[in-house]
Amino acid sequence: MTAQARHCSDTLQAWPPPLARPDRAQPEEQPDEQLDRPPLYYACAYGQHVEDLSLDLNNAHCPQTTTDLLQNGLLDKDLTPYTKQTIWSWSIKKRLQGLLAIGLASFGEHLSLIAQCTDKTCQQKLEFKLNLENFIDTDLAEYIQCSVSDTTDIKLRLPNGNDQRQWLEMAPGNSEGMFRTMASTLISDLESTEPGKTEAIPDTWPDTWPDTWLETISNTLDQHDQLTSLELSLSCPECNNHFQLEVDLESHIINELKKIRKKLLEHIHLIASNYHWTEEQIIQLTPQRRQYYINKILDDEVFA
Ligand SMILES: [Zn+2]
Repeated sequence: MTAQARHCSDTLQAWPPPLARPDRAQPEEQPDEQLDRPPLYYACAYGQHVEDLSLDLNNAHCPQTTTDLLQNGLLDKDLTPYTKQTIWSWSIKKRLQGLLAIGLASFGEHLSLIAQCTDKTCQQKLEFKLNLENFIDTDLAEYIQCSVSDTTDIKLRLPNGNDQRQWLEMAPGNSEGMFRTMASTLISDLESTEPGKTEAIPDTWPDTWPDTWLETISNTLDQHDQLTSLELSLSCPECNNHFQLEVDLESHIINELKKIRKKLLEHIHLIASNYHWTEEQIIQLTPQRRQYYINKILDDEVFA
């Protein structure tokens, strides 16, 4: 089965979504040419294909889960699927953009979250929604420049899916030592800012790195990718307590997809038990027709 046949193009969601959408009010002063932005890729809603049911979504923190979802649900600008190898080589930032695209295609622009007030006497639960489109980031350069001293610049490769896999395999030791080793794999070049002087990466690295360099590298990576470790400022409406909330967008999106899967499996069970159709046949029904049969089954049960 070809990818084109597998993915129905009329239900594909561009990421970032076009600014000029029929469901969106047009900003009056904005000239037409600014209303469009080229898509990075297209996403298919989770649950439209029977293969979606085979994906293991139980470990939202496992990079394999994200790679499987992206490979199954994303197409490039020419509507060609990506290989797993390509997706592993994407920066963590680009992988998250892909997952946001699948989230938007699968459950719409809003991600519902629940936080708990950090005031011990309050602990009020706060429900709020994040708009996925607020996290669009099209700056997906693979290398960034980082100035570690007055005279030295470092060219840093952004961490990617392969790095995540390798870091997971590293034996847990002291976190600073681990970060040294991790960061050393990201340095691709040293440049002197002094005219005529060249720099080379010393053989003794990363053990002899100055601590200040390590801190600068860590801060540069954080500044460049603020979504992977996103922090939100919240205020509790009960006690007016202001607090910070760390939000792991990747696992929240995967958990939403898990909810879609649970509901879909319940629907398949109900329809299959009554009509004896296969999973694939039931998944190929439009959501409206699937709902029609479910209503019919439930109505018949009530009147039986
Ligand atoms: Zn509170």
